[in-house]
Amino acid sequence: MQRRHFITGCACCGLLARASTLLAASQGPLPARLQQPEPGSDEGGLWSLLTREEERLKRSRFLLRDPALNAYVSGLACRLGGEHCPDIRVYLVRSPFFNASMAPNGMLQVWTGLLLRMDNEAQLAAVLGHEIGHYVCRHSLEQLRDAKSRTALGQFLGMALGAAGVGAAGSLAQLALLAGMFAYSREHEREADRIGQELVADAGYPPIEAAKVWQQLVAELKAEAEWSGDAGSRSIFFASHPDPEERSQAMASRAATMNGDTGDAATAAYARQIHGHRRQWFEDELRRRKTGETIALFERLLRQSDDGETRFFLGEAYRLRAADGDGARALGEYAAAESRSACPPEMFRSRGMLQRQAGDTAAASASFRHYLSLRPAAEDAEMIRSYLHEGL
Ligand SMILES: [Zn+2]
Repeated sequence: MQRRHFITGCACCGLLARASTLLAASQGPLPARLQQPEPGSDEGGLWSLLTREEERLKRSRFLLRDPALNAYVSGLACRLGGEHCPDIRVYLVRSPFFNASMAPNGMLQVWTGLLLRMDNEAQLAAVLGHEIGHYVCRHSLEQLRDAKSRTALGQFLGMALGAAGVGAAGSLAQLALLAGMFAYSREHEREADRIGQELVADAGYPPIEAAKVWQQLVAELKAEAEWSGDAGSRSIFFASHPDPEERSQAMASRAATMNGDTGDAATAAYARQIHGHRRQWFEDELRRRKTGETIALFERLLRQSDDGETRFFLGEAYRLRAADGDGARALGEYAAAESRSACPPEMFRSRGMLQRQAGDTAAASASFRHYLSLRPAAEDAEMIRSYLHEGL
């Protein structure tokens, strides 16, 4: 069902005269489809550079190529983008950080760390809608023409050109550079937030979910700050997106003026779509070594779905953090995992490791043997057999 009554289009800034003339004064559809710019113009130059970057991205080893998940996220972007659908190309990037970005040529990156953090389809729609907002309002063109932003963009262009032949999407750092090339102004972010939330409501999702995306991230960052005093320092997204707390409050207030929390957030549908990937994304998340954020995230996911897999990975986060009491916390989570569905066999290996460290060789031996019985051909099976052979 199409209900195109919320969308109020781009209103932000002076350079948007061409786009904004396409809009009704207060309400109307998104701006019309964007034309490819003239090759000789500044925007045309940027497009041709981005087209080359996109070709590299298509070959990147970080792309998640699962056709079903790609079709799902692309389909959602398409539904939100309306007539812009043919111009938007979604790329799923396997990286554990919360990040999504839209380039002015329609190249939309969504990172798996973001997908893991979404509670439901409505939240993913809010993020995609935000990026579509930047795109349809041509914020990047404003950045290109704004003297203050030119330096940062120039650095990107210099690096991208400098990396020609190497493959600028070859490393994760370069991918991050490509994703974060436009540090939008606060006004642009507010406008993209508003459009994203309007698209969410327009598609029939509860608009409050847009605010929850940011509340959840704020909770993770606070947990990290409490743990390490290092809040968000490695978050690529927050380097270019200001003050999540303020934005979440603005979106919660706006949701109250829309249809609030009514609508179907499509929680179960979203869980089904990402189910086959969650295990990999949990493992990737552990490798970030941001245990404050990771534990806060896993505890939140546990409240949604208390299964053996989530319990196991929460236990892993404690085991790897290895602070006072974490060994006991990990063992507690492993025990809970064992009694629930979807407990990974690796739980027995991890439990064996902790028991071995604690000097409980009999228990460790039993755990390792159980692991080998479940995963006889595991990559580390030989190592575990050697532990057993050497008497632990
Ligand atoms: Zn943004």
